[in-house]
Amino acid sequence: MPATIDPSQRCPCGTGDSYGECCARFHSGGAAPTAEALMRSRYSAYALLDRDPAPLARYLHRTWDAAERPPLAGLMEPGPEWGRLTIVGTTAGGPFDDAGTVEFVAQFRDGSGARHRMHEVSRFRREGGRWLYVTGDVSGDGD
Ligand SMILES: [Zn+2]
Repeated sequence: MPATIDPSQRCPCGTGDSYGECCARFHSGGAAPTAEALMRSRYSAYALLDRDPAPLARYLHRTWDAAERPPLAGLMEPGPEWGRLTIVGTTAGGPFDDAGTVEFVAQFRDGSGARHRMHEVSRFRREGGRWLYVTGDVSGDGD
């Protein structure tokens, strides 16, 4: 796991577990068992990105479908300040599936400190035993 992140801090993905007992194992190379677990770990990577950009940006890159992902360099750029993640629902995406969706709402603050909500239905597929983020449909700022 990235050495600059305290493993005892609460994981940003919202499970209530510590980072060391939650998303750190995926950031360190472990395979997420479900689409939801991958989605949460990608959210944590975004939320912690400024703490250790290179390994977390590489994590976002390698867990993104190669046909859809942006260049690695762009993923290292600072983003908004991510707040609470709420999983709204999932379809498939389990250990015996090859595809699935995760619907979520994420709160964030932009550069001026204004609060926003992002509502997205993300699509995932599994390749070689590993879940990959494909793309998502964002339904905009609810506020
Ligand atoms: Zn987590």
